[in-house]
Amino acid sequence: MSSHHTIFKKCYEYSEADDARAAGVYPFFQPIGKNAGTKVIIKDRELLMAGSNNYLGLSSDPRMIEACTKAVRDYGTSCSGSRFMNGTLALHEELEHAMADFVGAEEALCFTTGHQTNLGAISALVGRNDHVITDKFNHASIMDGIFLTTGLNKSVHVHRFRHNNFEDLEQILKRIPEDEPKLIVTDGVFSMEGDIVNLPEMRKLAENYGAAIYLDEAHALGVLGATGKGTMEHFGDHSLADLVMCTFSKAFGSIGGFVAGEQKVIDYIKHFARPLMFSASMPPANIVAALTALEIIKKEPERVLRLQEIGRKMKKGFTELGFDTGTSTTPIVPLVIGENEKTFRFWKTMFEMGVYVNPVISPAVPPNRAMIRTSFMATHTDDELDQILEIAGQAGRMSGLID
Ligand code: PMP
Repeated sequence: MSSHHTIFKKCYEYSEADDARAAGVYPFFQPIGKNAGTKVIIKDRELLMAGSNNYLGLSSDPRMIEACTKAVRDYGTSCSGSRFMNGTLALHEELEHAMADFVGAEEALCFTTGHQTNLGAISALVGRNDHVITDKFNHASIMDGIFLTTGLNKSVHVHRFRHNNFEDLEQILKRIPEDEPKLIVTDGVFSMEGDIVNLPEMRKLAENYGAAIYLDEAHALGVLGATGKGTMEHFGDHSLADLVMCTFSKAFGSIGGFVAGEQKVIDYIKHFARPLMFSASMPPANIVAALTALEIIKKEPERVLRLQEIGRKMKKGFTELGFDTGTSTTPIVPLVIGENEKTFRFWKTMFEMGVYVNPVISPAVPPNRAMIRTSFMATHTDDELDQILEIAGQAGRMSGLID
């Protein structure tokens, strides 16, 4: 293979990752050898996991493993084709009916990942001359969905409002002519800050200005509400959003995603979502994992309540230690640090002391808001949680982040 083409010049000159590796503080792509839920083995060392999105601990639940194994035996390992053509199984439709029922929608449509769900649903829906209005802290996959649609249609209007700031949102809505179609897109639970969208307020504005709401429940289904039905259940009103999407890669312990809403709207997305048409469908084992997880969530809502209790305990614990935990009110608790360098060093200290957490830097968060993102599972024991707090306290003092 030839090299040194000018197209690769940027690659040869990119040095940030090498610099961090040389300084011994490179935190990304850590290969996990064995994952036993709240404990993981990395480089032959056991670490406490305080940075997983496996919120209900279901990815290692024996019932999930049993069901997936059977699915592989019955259906094989792959569908080898897109939903549109040769990749739709009756199982996909079973999952779609089950998810539509769970979130109280007429119909749902499954994609192979949550990222593809946002790409497909947003780019299918927002077309020529339409307006899409997005919170600046929304997940990257929402922005990617918007990039896809602006790439396809130069006349799409994109507006970004300050995080959870409804005065800013209203100013934007006011400026858009009344009769022009508008979609407001928001995370239910924001993936890095762990705070919850003020959905009732957003709904009022949406109604006043004739906008529809698209709600990303990636960190909310299985996490918020008395029975895990997410942000709308949290606020006690299941009609606050017009479309709901979620991933299966977090509380559902699988991979895949779905979008749910009115039958005609979902049918339209089905025929215009490029990631659905041009990528192979969710594999059988992952469909069955998602279905099994849903059954467990319905049967064992106590898992959801335990997760919420853990979120409160950890927020209180970190705050009492002196960390800046921002506006989190969920089992995602950020420790806001600011500078990348300090964040990497703190991550390294935690790692060496036996706790796995995730350092998050721009563009996942705004510049100068680098943070350690901690997140918890319903299966963490109080002992494990106390140990995590103890180590965070020691590491924080050693790194000069807290007194
Ligand atoms: N939306 C949000 C809010 C997310 O946090 C994520 C994943 N981090 C996604 C969508 C994409 O989900 P997936 O991992 O299934 O692609």
